[in-house]
Amino acid sequence: MKLLIEKEFVAEECITCGVIFGISSDLRYHIKEAKRPFFCPNGHSMSYTVSEADKLRKEIASRDGIIRDQDAIIKKLKNPKAKKTPTK
Ligand SMILES: [Zn+2]
Repeated sequence: MKLLIEKEFVAEECITCGVIFGISSDLRYHIKEAKRPFFCPNGHSMSYTVSEADKLRKEIASRDGIIRDQDAIIKKLKNPKAKKTPTK
């Protein structure tokens, strides 16, 4: 009896010994979000320090800063004689 299971895998490379091994995309997502340690086939431990959510939060904060700067420029152009307001 044959059982065919379709599953997506991603390649990981051990940061200690360099062995390349596959883990499922689902597992990778969960260990990355939880920043949980995982092991290569030779037993070396590693973990992600930045989750996808962390990356997106940083990107949003960066874009918020750009929007604030552009709003300040627009405000200044609309009313050049207005006093400067302190910014964070
Ligand atoms: Zn290893």
